Amino acid sequence: MIHFDFSDEDNPDLSPAAMSGSDESWMRRALSLGLAAAEQDEVPVGAIVVHQDRIIGSGWNQREQLKDPTAHAEMIAITQASAALESWRLIDCTLYVTLEPCPMCAGAILQARIPRVVYGARDPKAGAVDSLYRLLNDPRLNHAVQITGGVLAVECGRILTEFFEAKRKLGKK
Ligand code: ZN
Repeated sequence: MIHFDFSDEDNPDLSPAAMSGSDESWMRRALSLGLAAAEQDEVPVGAIVVHQDRIIGSGWNQREQLKDPTAHAEMIAITQASAALESWRLIDCTLYVTLEPCPMCAGAILQARIPRVVYGARDPKAGAVDSLYRLLNDPRLNHAVQITGGVLAVECGRILTEFFEAKRKLGKK
């Protein structure tokens, strides 16, 4: 069974200041993309890249549709954002994603030099930001990312558990 952790207790970044209203409103946008993924029978994860208060990249998980293991929400949003800025460097950008990024997406975040990442639910099975690895703050690497975790964690996790519960029920029929 896939289990997503919504608890905030061990998340050091959940100070009231980190939970600013605008982070929540951007996360709601990412969440709506996650719901779009669920409607297309994709694991519901959504991501946006915000630059100067404007969304310049957005994506949802399209692994099944594109038959592409790299088609995670973050990868699609990052590619779009780079096209919008005409640069591989996403300076002054914040990535919002409903689920803690995996190692591949954390790698892309580092490659794009994204200065800030805000995520929703933790992913104890694949998370590479806080859960399994801390790739975005490894002193051996040449880029460090400011991280805010747990923004709308309950909502972001709920769309995942509901998706997998529905899948399981269908499987039993
Ligand atoms: Zn990923």
